[in-house]
Amino acid sequence: MQRLTVLGATGSIGVSTLDVVARHPDRYRIYALTAHSRVEALAAQCVQFRPRLAVVGSAEAAQQLSRLLRAQDIPTEVVYGPQALCQVASSAECDAVMAAIVGAAGLAPTLAAARAGKKVLLANKEALVMSGQLFIDAIAASGAVLLPVDSEHSAIFQCLPQHYQRAPGAAGVAKILLTASGGPFLTRAVELLDTVTPDEACAHPNWVMGRKISVDSATMMNKGLEVIEAYWLFGAAVADIEVVIHPQSVIHSMVSYVDGSVLAQLGNPDMRTPIAHALAYPERIASGVAPLDLTAIADLQFERPDFQRFPCLALAFQALKIGASAPAVLNAANEVAVQAFLNRQIGFRAIDKVIADVMEQVAPVAVRDIEQLLEQDALARRVAVARVAQRGEG
Ligand code: NAD
Ligand code: MG
Repeated sequence: MQRLTVLGATGSIGVSTLDVVARHPDRYRIYALTAHSRVEALAAQCVQFRPRLAVVGSAEAAQQLSRLLRAQDIPTEVVYGPQALCQVASSAECDAVMAAIVGAAGLAPTLAAARAGKKVLLANKEALVMSGQLFIDAIAASGAVLLPVDSEHSAIFQCLPQHYQRAPGAAGVAKILLTASGGPFLTRAVELLDTVTPDEACAHPNWVMGRKISVDSATMMNKGLEVIEAYWLFGAAVADIEVVIHPQSVIHSMVSYVDGSVLAQLGNPDMRTPIAHALAYPERIASGVAPLDLTAIADLQFERPDFQRFPCLALAFQALKIGASAPAVLNAANEVAVQAFLNRQIGFRAIDKVIADVMEQVAPVAVRDIEQLLEQDALARRVAVARVAQRGEG
């Protein structure tokens, strides 16, 4: 029996995780569930999965959740705040942690799970983008197992040899081919992007996801973050990570080998496949995903990404090449800019401009520890908020 903590249980990935877990009551027991503010959704999950602990964002939310649970005689203990997130991620009573909080808020608990030697199922790509080497070192030091949940990285992981050790050369790997759908604006005239609404940006052609990652997919910053994520997960040189536009999202990514073989992983675009893969690895379990009907798809297309149309993708490559704190600064600026776009404070095409300005203003520094990383994150956020305000006025 695997005891599981789900960080971000009420989100898109959290809900899909619990859907897979519910199919295998003989394998998984929920130790803790966490949510930021969606108390009613979390209460319903507690009723279904009876976790030992539930974590929410504030004292007020905790009171509300306790009341809901008491009314239904659910014995789940309710706690709140960032420290509680780290506790449930590192507790001796849990074996595996699904890291599915969105953004930098997930860094501390995900790192806590890594330091505690847990099986870390990583959806929260921002945590790895921000902390890079610190995260990889924490995994190595504790003997934790890091399993990718992001569909592309799960695909790459599945196309690599089983005991792959972050050394592409030794495994005969020539290139990592990261596929990207191109999002909802792949073919829209660039001039028309000035006026797109948050709902249009969140209407992804193939995937249903949280709003932040949906906007990231529309700007292709998501693919940029995934390039950085792949760099850390698989130890490939930046030049050996290639982005390929594949609008159908049926091939989830590929590995190209020195002998000319290219291995791909295919499946319907449903996150329950990579989630089930990470949960059961090295076994395979049913996920509820419909089988792939290749003849119904018939057509798979590929093209090169257009870095002019998607400046965020270029900015992410730039941050990875600069290294040090640059990816954390990129991530922080992006989080602020995306939130400002979702709040209708700036237009869609201002997102990349805010990020570029922040990267120019915040000089990269070597990252020694998590405290220093969080300082850089906070600094980048302050600069980004100021840029958003200027743009809003201008
Ligand atoms: P979501 O917005 O649907 O859910 C986010 C979850 O995080 C919610 O449970 C929310 O309560 C929690 N949360 C938000 N802010 C928080 C805070 N400050 N403190 C504590 N908890 C907080 O997001 P999602 O689409 O499920 O994505 C989650 C993560 O998984 C992201 O990092 C995303 O990039 C990654 N991911 C998602 C998908 C997908 O298909 N949705 C695919 C690949 C990777
Ligand atoms: Mg992905």
